[in-house]
Amino acid sequence: MMIPYKHEPFTDFSSEENKKAYLEGLKLVESYLGQDYNLVIGGECISTEDKIVSVNPSNKEEVIGRVSKANQELAEKAMQVADETFNTWRKVKPEIRADILFRAAAIIRRRKHEFSALLTKEAGKPWNEADADTAEAIDFIEYYARQMLKLKDGMPVESRPGEYNRYSYIPLGVGIIISPWNFPFAIMAGTTIAAIVTGNTVLLKPASTTPVVAAKFAEVMEQAGLPKGVLNFVPGSGSEVGDYLVDHPRTRFISFTGSRDVGTRIYERASKVNEGQIWLKRVIAEMGGKDTIVVDKDADLELAAQSIVKSAFGFSGQKCSACSRAVIVEDVYDQVLNRAIELTKELTVGDTADGSYFMGPVIDQAAFDKIMSYVEIGKEEGRLVAGGEGDSSKGFFIQPTIIADLDPKARLMQEEIFGPVVGFAKAKDFDHAIEIANNTDYGLTGAVLTNNRDHIEKAREDFHVGNLYFNRGCTGAIVGYQPFGGFNMSGTDSKGGGPDYLLLHLQAKTTSETL
Ligand code: NAP
Repeated sequence: MMIPYKHEPFTDFSSEENKKAYLEGLKLVESYLGQDYNLVIGGECISTEDKIVSVNPSNKEEVIGRVSKANQELAEKAMQVADETFNTWRKVKPEIRADILFRAAAIIRRRKHEFSALLTKEAGKPWNEADADTAEAIDFIEYYARQMLKLKDGMPVESRPGEYNRYSYIPLGVGIIISPWNFPFAIMAGTTIAAIVTGNTVLLKPASTTPVVAAKFAEVMEQAGLPKGVLNFVPGSGSEVGDYLVDHPRTRFISFTGSRDVGTRIYERASKVNEGQIWLKRVIAEMGGKDTIVVDKDADLELAAQSIVKSAFGFSGQKCSACSRAVIVEDVYDQVLNRAIELTKELTVGDTADGSYFMGPVIDQAAFDKIMSYVEIGKEEGRLVAGGEGDSSKGFFIQPTIIADLDPKARLMQEEIFGPVVGFAKAKDFDHAIEIANNTDYGLTGAVLTNNRDHIEKAREDFHVGNLYFNRGCTGAIVGYQPFGGFNMSGTDSKGGGPDYLLLHLQAKTTSETL
């Protein structure tokens, strides 16, 4: 009998044994830094002259790997292979597809610290954040494999005497998987696996800042027995091959996670029916956030300050779920702000390979420049009370930053910064706090700290976000426990890690037989 799904436990780095295991992972990753990685199309490894050079954001001199880059010609080749392979893969039994996933999860679990160490090097993730990313990748694989087994016989429908009706789910076709760099393992693997286990074939285009972990994942899938041509690995620049893949008449669906700008562009382009196209494309688009923690006057204020700081600055605020706004009822505003400042000043920033720092770098120079420009805007719009400095001489380091006393309509309170910057604003009362929390274009995550039961119920009804948490921070959704996805400009609310996620990759077919 299959073991019921349970999420992968996080590693306890206070244990010497675990620390040692992680350092060994880092050593192993260091032994293969700077290597070349190929495209994989139909099982064929293809090397191109033009390469994506992946560097360590803690130390930009350190090259993680050089990854071959797809152009339109290679993207076309991958599309043809995926299209052809769909004819066979769609007929492979769901049980066999799920078995390949279980095997892949086992391989990754055995190499867990190596994968996490690679995330530390390639994405600048502190050990605990990298460990959580790898655990989430394993969770997606284990969870979706089990979900497919639940869906394999379709759903029950009625039959009248003399007829036999069935309602089954069949795959869609070729999917384009476009993933971001901030969960370069979990989201990249989760979105790919969901498409594959449901019987689709894919072209995987990972983010250009983190392609090496994706190349390693593609290798694992091959080792796990995935037939050639099901997963075609086509790293490349989004602006060079993105439109081509999205516009292609044989593209059946697009599974995108990333920024609002790119997501809305894909949504719009995918709506056009191009020559030779005989379907309406499906789009899964999970995009940005401007996530708020609300603190009521009747709340555990220490927990509130801790939750804000951890949700704002974990992985340098580079999570779509990160707290970038704290809205505090005025009676307790000064107290929560002062405690958050104290906690923030205790945080350390540095090279994440050294496991002792709380925060690492931001991903690249463009992110560094953008975040620092928001710090300047924040100084104008509000009061800088912690952090504010950055140093990009060796890596892209920015101190955790708090801007206080902001107007709820200020740019700092409205635009996604995607870095270690949190804005504080005062609310007159709880109703006003919820009104402020809802005043953005986004609707991804939120948290409310309160001991007032009526206020919990009010927030449950009126705080319009896809993932709402009470008396905790707003990051850290777990696959199968807190399905994840947002409203409004945060995307299509395709709840990743949820019981109905796989259905987005399937279409329902009714058959009715007269007996
Ligand atoms: P991004 O710049 O939108 O990039 C995401 C992916 O889109 C990358 O693979 C990128 O390729 C590709 N891309 C760029 N231009 C494209 C085009 N014209 N057509 C097709 N693909 C294109 O986002 P990011 O900076 O990697 O990620 C951060 C964003 O993701 C934030 O806004 C964050 O909130 C959001 N996010 C949302 C969720 C969620 O579940 N809602 C989860 C994680 C992250 P290149 O790398 O080659 O440019």
